[in-house]
Amino acid sequence: MEHQTQNQKQENLKICQSCGMPMQAEQYGTNQDGSSNDKYCCYCFKDGEFAQKCTVEEMVEFCAPFEVEGGRAKTKEEAKKMLMAYFPTLERWKVKA
Ligand SMILES: [Zn+2]
Repeated sequence: MEHQTQNQKQENLKICQSCGMPMQAEQYGTNQDGSSNDKYCCYCFKDGEFAQKCTVEEMVEFCAPFEVEGGRAKTKEEAKKMLMAYFPTLERWKVKA
């Protein structure tokens, strides 16, 4: 733990359970009482509420261009397919049995 490299730190970042973004501490969302919420990022969760009240499909549509931009997918279609497989593993989108 005491000899963490920059890379290991990256891997230990918390992932926003709504959009899948790795978060730095200053990107944590906020609860209603102003405390920070490390489950969701500040873009998704603000003052105890989701910033976008959207469906998982809408979230995929919104995030897909960033995946292409970041080089994680070649086309928007490929990005959407990837995110549609990934997002349902996140807490916000988990299908409740
Ligand atoms: Zn988020």
